[in-house]
Amino acid sequence: MKIGVLALQGAVAEHIRSLEAAGAEAVAVKRIEELEELDGIVIPGGESTTIGKLIRKYGFLEALKEFSKQGKPLFGTCAGLIVLANKIDGQDDAHLQLMDMVVARNAFGRQRESFETDLPIKGIEEAIRAVFIRAPLIKEVGSNVEVLSVYNDEIVAARQGHLLACSFHPELTDDYRLHAYFVDMVKEAAESITK
Ligand code: GLN
Repeated sequence: MKIGVLALQGAVAEHIRSLEAAGAEAVAVKRIEELEELDGIVIPGGESTTIGKLIRKYGFLEALKEFSKQGKPLFGTCAGLIVLANKIDGQDDAHLQLMDMVVARNAFGRQRESFETDLPIKGIEEAIRAVFIRAPLIKEVGSNVEVLSVYNDEIVAARQGHLLACSFHPELTDDYRLHAYFVDMVKEAAESITK
C-alpha cells in the first residue's frame, strides 16, 4: 500500500508521518510520473489558489482526474478539500472538480480563524481532535455525497465513493484515525481494482 502526498505546497511532512503511523508507506509527490506507483493520494492544506496554479503548471490537473477515474482514492484536507470541489462559492473557477459539492473558503469568520474542537465523525468511534485554520466549509453536497461530520450545522467532512474531504487538519495531531480511515479506503479500492 503506497500513498502519495501532493508536495507542491502545504503541510506535506505531517501527512507523511500520519499515514505511516496508520500503517501505510507514504511518499511526497512532485511529478506526475510518480502517480503511477501510487494506490492513493492526499492533497494537503495550504493555500488553494497557489496549489491550484501549481497543479496546472505541473500537469496534475489532467493526471489527477485520470488517477481518480482509475478508482484510486483521493483525500483533500482544508485547501485540498477546496481543490477537490466541483464549485467554489463566489468564484468562477474551480480546480479538479471531482467531488459533487460547493465549498466556501475561509468560512469560519475572523475571530474564529483558527480553533480546535472534538469532532464526531461517522465511521470513527470516538470524536477526533480537529484543528481548523482559516478553514473552508462544505455549503452543499450532491445526493451521491455522504456527510461524515457537521460542526455548528456546517458540513466539515464528506465522502463520495473513493473521494474523502475534510475542512480541518487531521495531520496536526497525534490522532491518526482519519488517516487510518483513508488507508482502509485505499486498501478496499486496490482490492477491487486488481479483481
Ligand atoms: N484558507 C485557505 C484557502 O482558501 C485554506 C487554509 C488551509 O488549508 N489551512 O486555500
